[in-house]
Formats: sequence, C-alpha cells, structure tokens
Amino acid sequence: MATKYLCKACRGVLNVKTSIILAALKENSPKKGLFLLNPELGNYTVTTHSTFKMEEGEEYLIKCPICHAHLNSLKYDHLVRIIMVEENGAEYDIYFSDIVGEKCTYKISGSKIEKIGPDSVKYNKYFDVPEEDRKYL
Ligand SMILES: [Zn+2]
Repeated sequence: MATKYLCKACRGVLNVKTSIILAALKENSPKKGLFLLNPELGNYTVTTHSTFKMEEGEEYLIKCPICHAHLNSLKYDHLVRIIMVEENGAEYDIYFSDIVGEKCTYKISGSKIEKIGPDSVKYNKYFDVPEEDRKYL
C-alpha cells in the first residue's frame, strides 16, 4: 500500500496512479476544472486539460471531486488542507496554497511541522511557534 491522500471531509482517496485529483473553480467565473497534483511533496507540477488554464496569481476554491466539500482551510487564509496517510499508517495534515504558482507545503502531525517549498516562509505566521514554547514540544 502506497501513500494515500484523503479528503478532509469524506476521507475518500484523492490520488490515482501518479496524481492527486482535485477540482478547482472561482466564484462568478466560468473558469473551473479538474487538476492533477504530483503526490511528491515539494513537486509543484500541476496538470490540467488544455482548455483549463490556471494562471499564476489566481486564487481558486478547491473542492473534493468525490463529495464536493471545500478543501480551502477555514483557519488559514489561502491554504488548502488534505490528509496524507503514509504506508505505515502515520497520518498528517497537508496544507498548500490555493494561489496558483505559490510553492509551499506544510506537513503537520501534532506539534511537528515540516515546511517545504521556496514560498513556505510566506505563511510562517500561521505555523511559527514562539521560541519560549519550543522546549515544551
Ligand atoms: Zn470528499
């Protein structure tokens, strides 16, 4: 069993073969479509149909293609949350940006945070733990 990515709402498996499949749309815009993400954290290749062009800087509502729940985080503006389950059963929250072109991923389990990608400093404010609290982690 390989790594699974799950919808945070229905826990349906979002990855098939070598891609994570998600739906993207914008309110009051005809732009919408499915897109494929590389399941390797830190690989920001996004694949869409040639008629659906996601342009740099655009922000999308991201939905689960199974239950249609919004995956955009209610807690952290501009981030999307899905769940990752590793082969050994370990479960993580994975956050990534809903803005096209922003390369940042956060892999979180309890108080352990792994920051990935050149733009990950952008949302540091969401995840930074004050120095004086670190000794308790
Ligand atoms: Zn779902």
